[in-house]
Order: sequence, then C-alpha cells, then structure tokens
Amino acid sequence: GYRSRAAYKLKQLDREENLLHEGKTVVDLGAAPGGWLQVAAEEVGETGTVVGVDLQRIKDVDGVETVRGDMTDESTREEVRDIAGDAVDVVLSDMAPNMTGEYSVDHARSVHLARQAFETALDVLDTGGDFAVKVFEGQDLDDFREDLDEEFQYVRTLRPDASRDSSSEVYLVAKGRMTAPVAEGD
Ligand code: SAM
Repeated sequence: GYRSRAAYKLKQLDREENLLHEGKTVVDLGAAPGGWLQVAAEEVGETGTVVGVDLQRIKDVDGVETVRGDMTDESTREEVRDIAGDAVDVVLSDMAPNMTGEYSVDHARSVHLARQAFETALDVLDTGGDFAVKVFEGQDLDDFREDLDEEFQYVRTLRPDASRDSSSEVYLVAKGRMTAPVAEGD
C-alpha cells in the first residue's frame, strides 16, 4: 500500500497527462510522508532517479534520495540542484501551507509555495520537461497559470477525484518546457 491517499492523485495526474516514464529524473517537492515518491519510484524504475524534499523527515523509500529542508530557502534549492542536476525531466510539487482556515491567507501562502516550485522547475528542468503543482484556487491563480503558459507548451488545470473533499485544491500540469529564447544582440 501507499503511505498517503495523495498517491492516488499523482497516479491520476500521470494517467491523464503522462508524466512519469522509465529512466526519468523526477524531483518531488513537499514529498512527506512519501506516497508520491513511492509512485514515482515505481514508474521510473531502477534506471530512473527520484529526489524528494520536505520540511519533515521522510522515511526511506527504496531508490529515492531525500532532502530535509524548506523550499523557500535558497540553500535548500541549491541542495536540490546539486543532487538532481539541471536536466531534470519532471518537477512535482504537492506543497501545502499550514492551514489557517482564512481563505485568502491560505490561498496566498499556497500560491507563494507554488511559485517557489515554479522557480525551482525553471532552475532544474530540461527542455521538454514537465511540471505539476498543487495550488489552492483564488484570485492569484489565473496570473500564476499565465506565467506557466509562457514557459511551457501547454498548461491544464486538473482536479483529481481524491481531491474532491478539499474543494479549493487544483493541480496545474504544465507540459513541455520550451527552450529559453536566445537573447537578441543589438
Ligand atoms: N505528496 C505527499 C505524499 O504523497 O505523501 C503529500 C504532501 S503534503 C499534502 C504537503 C507537504 O508539503 C507537507 O509534508 C509539508 O511539510 C510540505 N511543505 C510545506 N511547505 C514546505 C516548504 N516550504 N518546503 C518544503 N516542504 C514543504
């Protein structure tokens, strides 16, 4: 069995958007307790690489490297880049803030974490790489999605069945990172 019901959300995202493949390198942000790591490790197999990051300690998962740290700290992002390299195939983020119950605060914090994940994705993803990120719905979601649209071939908003209870949670799946445009000389 899986460590979290969240595992089924990643399975559904993968079924619908074809994210995980044998031999690929996957970075999973906000990975504790490790359900997504278990799914990713199964899908990439022994030739693949999976790196998981969380504030909390993550119990060992076969074939997975873990980092304990805060993704809003530059030092954690550097550690992730050192381990995973800069030709990563897939960046996943299921990061969520501690809930205050105040809708606008929780939304703002969620978007902040999602943007940290986006920065990390731009830092480590190979051209053609994919990015999937959880974010709570609210006023800043459209702007965030537009920013993803500029960097990827397409972006879809998905709500996995296992998310139906927490009504404000969606996943943006951004496929096919585009090559950075070559700066024009003057
Ligand atoms: N996908 C995971 C699984 O399948 O087991 C569940 C992830 S849980 C919904 C969200 C996680 O995000 C929590 O473990 C939390 O500690 C982590 N998190 C929140 N803020 C973070 C941050 N700034 N840096 C790293 N992890 C963070």
